[in-house]
Amino acid sequence: KNPSVQEEYSIKLILIGDSSVGKTSLIMRYIDDKFSPNNLSTIGVDFKTKYLEIDGHQVKVQVWDTAGQEQFRAITRAYYRNSNGILIVFDLTNRETFNQVKVWLQSIHDVSVDAVDVILCGNKVDLERAVSREEVEEFASLSSVPYFETSCKLNTGINEMFMELATRALRRK
Ligand code: GDP
Ligand code: MG
Repeated sequence: KNPSVQEEYSIKLILIGDSSVGKTSLIMRYIDDKFSPNNLSTIGVDFKTKYLEIDGHQVKVQVWDTAGQEQFRAITRAYYRNSNGILIVFDLTNRETFNQVKVWLQSIHDVSVDAVDVILCGNKVDLERAVSREEVEEFASLSSVPYFETSCKLNTGINEMFMELATRALRRK
């Protein structure tokens, strides 16, 4: 193989978590570098695409939103299985959304997705928090998932988080 010829990989990342935690906002900030203070019912399409260079490879990253399904947790087995990385998002100002993270993690294990990387995201770190970083870090470490705190408003932590998830997903390929 000629190492100077870049191979192109394609990976699919999905965002799950309760309503209003900021899933659509994370995608809008990450892909379009925009933030809207209003509720975003949908990004308009099922996914958005970004190209990244990871480990010297040109990688096409598809980021999938889950608008509407989250109230019912009607995320299908196929949806999980076809993904290479999963971001579980909760809202740092809303403890109930953190409590629900267990349920989201369980729903991933229920469909026995082994070949997938999961990252936990505590969003809205710019606001007054209802859950301490220490508490989430303890939970994350027991669950063996990396933890990132983000703000879509201030654009903090988001690029690093997606890069970490994409890199982990790519290295499994
Ligand atoms: P989704 O239902 O999980 O897709 O959540 P949305 O992306 O629609 O966001 C719900 C609300 O939270 C919207 O009013 C956003 O503007 C707001 N929001 C999202 N992320 C942040 C953040 O990091 N900081 C602040 N202050 N508000 C945010
Ligand atoms: Mg949404």
